[in-house]
Amino acid sequence: MPKWKTLIAKLNLSHLYAIAICLAGLGLFTIYNQGAFIHYTAPTWVWVYALSGAAVVLTFFTFQLPPQGNGLSLDSSVYLACIFVFGPTFSLTVLLVSSVAIFLIERKTIWWKHLINFAIYSIIIASASFSFTALGGVRGPLMDSHLLAYAGGMAIYFVLNTMLIVFYYYVFYNENLYETLKGMMKDTIIAYLSTLVLALVLVILLYHNHIFGLALFLCLSVLLSYAFKQMFAMYRDIEERANRDPRTGLFNHSYFELTLEEEMRKSRSTGSSLSLAMIDIDDFKKYNDHFGHLKGDGLIVFLAELLKKECGSPEMVVSRYGGEEFTLLMPSYDTEQAKSFLDRLRKTLNNSHFEGAEIFPQGCLSFSSGIAGYRSDIHDKSELVDQADQALYYAKKQGKNMVHVYGHQSPQEQDIDFSQDVRDIEQQLNLFMYKDLETFKHSKRVFRYAMDISELLLLDSLSKRQFTLGALIHDIGKLEIPWGILNKKEKLTPEEWEMVKWHVTWGKQMALMGDKFKDLAPYIELHHERYDGKGYPHGFKGEEIPRLCRMLTIIDSFDAMTTERPYQPTKSVEEAIVELRACAGSQFDPELTEFFISYIESRQLRTKEAAV
Ligand code: GH3
Ligand code: MG
Ligand code: MG
Repeated sequence: MPKWKTLIAKLNLSHLYAIAICLAGLGLFTIYNQGAFIHYTAPTWVWVYALSGAAVVLTFFTFQLPPQGNGLSLDSSVYLACIFVFGPTFSLTVLLVSSVAIFLIERKTIWWKHLINFAIYSIIIASASFSFTALGGVRGPLMDSHLLAYAGGMAIYFVLNTMLIVFYYYVFYNENLYETLKGMMKDTIIAYLSTLVLALVLVILLYHNHIFGLALFLCLSVLLSYAFKQMFAMYRDIEERANRDPRTGLFNHSYFELTLEEEMRKSRSTGSSLSLAMIDIDDFKKYNDHFGHLKGDGLIVFLAELLKKECGSPEMVVSRYGGEEFTLLMPSYDTEQAKSFLDRLRKTLNNSHFEGAEIFPQGCLSFSSGIAGYRSDIHDKSELVDQADQALYYAKKQGKNMVHVYGHQSPQEQDIDFSQDVRDIEQQLNLFMYKDLETFKHSKRVFRYAMDISELLLLDSLSKRQFTLGALIHDIGKLEIPWGILNKKEKLTPEEWEMVKWHVTWGKQMALMGDKFKDLAPYIELHHERYDGKGYPHGFKGEEIPRLCRMLTIIDSFDAMTTERPYQPTKSVEEAIVELRACAGSQFDPELTEFFISYIESRQLRTKEAAV
């Protein structure tokens, strides 16, 4: 292939954009300027140097704006004033000289960026001049009667500038067009509009006071830039303080929550790992009681310093969660990596010398830690925190000074008896005896199916507890639906259906009222989600719905098909199996549907054999 063809094959959108901008910019520069500066007299050159110098100074003395600290340069005021007082030819010469100066000063920036910048400014200046003249603007002093022309020129300048820059970030840095535009508007619009108005002020100063007017403008801008810089430093300081815990200098609880939400969002969209560790000092009360709170505070600061030192990588977020509890947010760490990191940290603390550490039962400083790994079926940050907390609780129960990962208990260890929980939920379900006997009986049947399925799925006992209790309690929100609707024999009206749908949300809120059953909330809330994302209340899809919730949906539907309900004809088991298969992949998880069907079929077979 000839060289030029290989070169063309390598071109992408950013190259094309850069080439198009440069061609347009240089073209417009040539048309409007035509090398006019060759004929300039000495006094005109004085003006060119003065205005270019001003543009250069203003490029460096920017106005730093919160929240990101983006700098807004007032050089646009100079170019606009040049257009209004001297016209496009002269303005483009000023641009040329200032661009050469900036190129010589800013050697670190690659040459083509300077060229693109020059081209963008040429396009903007030429277009703004064109619209100024087209709207009847006349160069020279500021004239009230030509306000429309000034406004038109400035509007074109603003719109083109914004569009070209936003597109530049889009093609070169792959940033989202809309988000970049929104960010730019939000942060800089007021300041940008000020530059436009200041351009008119500069027109007056230039026309009436010449170089002195320009000097005044420069002085004011440089001083304001300095003031803005100070204000921005203050803003950063206050922002920093709002996010930090004053005693330890670590991030505080609210910053942690914000970051957790943000990191969960990132992991969801990129599929990267994310682990959360909760850390709690062991037997801290004992130290407090023995040496007093002041010394206790010293220990908290000591651990905080250790965490800062050891968790130095920039992506880790260490926060003081409260009291003597800390959180460690670890993006890109899976739970195994997180565990080995925390175990190392724990040993470092065990080996650290601290006054009075010998009174601890472990004979040294120690902490326990619980780790939870993010999965796509965790939707709320509190779920992840809750899992880390449960893992921490488990680590404490195992004798402290240890790190435990949520869900890693061995099956024997986790055999938790939850018969009391079943009785507690049944107590609540008894209310259905009066209100809706069908729902009462349905809940119990679904619970029994869930018990069988949890054995077949070989669930660990924590999952078994959650799944079966979740099945038992899943319709609890129906207690809020009026009796007349629950027991209506005729078809429900659309409004009544809407009300029935609310039971998942009401039920979830009921579960979240106390600590005991809040881990059952997903079963209540998500049992009407569909595999294809067309369910309610959120429209979660596929694996966004936790696996056992998907299973509960199948059991729930199967039971609804095979038993009498006010608004549905009853199906035989065989008919229900056909229906389940028909809806596998749309309403139900296909794999779990087959699993459930094989369970039902073998149950049928056993019943028949028993009858024979
Ligand atoms: P465990 O090993 O089970 O965590 O036992 P513990 O003694 O550490 O118990 P727990 O975590 O429940 O109690 C923490 C104690 O820490 C309770 C409170 O008195 C004390 N504490 C909480 N915040 C501070 C603080 O800022 N300074 C001091 N000095 N003590 C605090
Ligand atoms: Mg504690
Ligand atoms: Mg403690």
